Amino acid sequence: NTRNSTAKIVLVTGASSGIGEATAVRLAAEGHHVALGARRTDRLQALVEKIRADGGRASAHRLDVTVRDDVHAVVDHVVEEHGRIDVMVNNAGIMPLSRLDALLVDEWDRMIEVNVKGLLHGIAAVLPHLQRQGGGHVVTVASVGAHEVVPTSAVYSATKFAAWAITEGLRLESDPSIRATTITPGVVESELAQHISDPLARDAMQTYRRNVIPADAIARAISFAIGQPADVDVNEIIVRPAAQR
Ligand code: NDP
Repeated sequence: NTRNSTAKIVLVTGASSGIGEATAVRLAAEGHHVALGARRTDRLQALVEKIRADGGRASAHRLDVTVRDDVHAVVDHVVEEHGRIDVMVNNAGIMPLSRLDALLVDEWDRMIEVNVKGLLHGIAAVLPHLQRQGGGHVVTVASVGAHEVVPTSAVYSATKFAAWAITEGLRLESDPSIRATTITPGVVESELAQHISDPLARDAMQTYRRNVIPADAIARAISFAIGQPADVDVNEIIVRPAAQR
């Protein structure tokens, strides 16, 4: 790409809305090739067309992060097509909040499947390639829930504590050519809160989510982290609305 001599091959999971979509748009505008993964391929296809119309490079890939083979297939496909993968943004996540005593056990399972196992599948799929090609970058989109628990967030926070720990472990265990960054958003405009089924949690979230910042605020943080020189690893960036307490 002539516009950016440090153009990277970037895979973003959960790119069909919210933070993943904003990240895809921003990174493509910066000249990176963005491979977009999610289940809603109609959304991905529309986004690819928009990015291409704006002169960017993008591809759409059907991906359920809870299915290990799906994640490996998409990562391998990207590597076959481009010869390498420079950055994997593990962003796909869900947040069906509820109090433990509501016993929405299927939603607990689902959060663990997507937010924890989905991240692990991403790391397992990409790490051998990063090692073989001599470097790369894993970015995890966690949450301020990685640092705090509030009523209704026990399981969600647990998954984000786990995401934080897994990314920190990856950083410590990896050769310095492999960078690991945790991006830690506060309240961001997206579809995330639309899937809360518990009425109590939904009401509480409406108050909590009064102050939101656009998803591009998180995309800028991701862009900053991956744009650093190879010997600089931004370990974590916490980005909240200025009014969030
Ligand atoms: P959205 O609901 O807008 O986006 C979530 C994305 O994840 C969608 O693209 C969805 O795509 C994808 N996704 C969900 N399940 C799967 C799956 N099984 N396989 C593949 N993709 C999946 O929410 P956000 O943009 O807000 O969420 C992105 C990340 O940011 C999440 O990890 C979330 O926890 C985190 N976060 C968000 C905050 C906020 O306030 N918005 C605050 C802190 C953290 P599809 O349904 O098409 O598969």
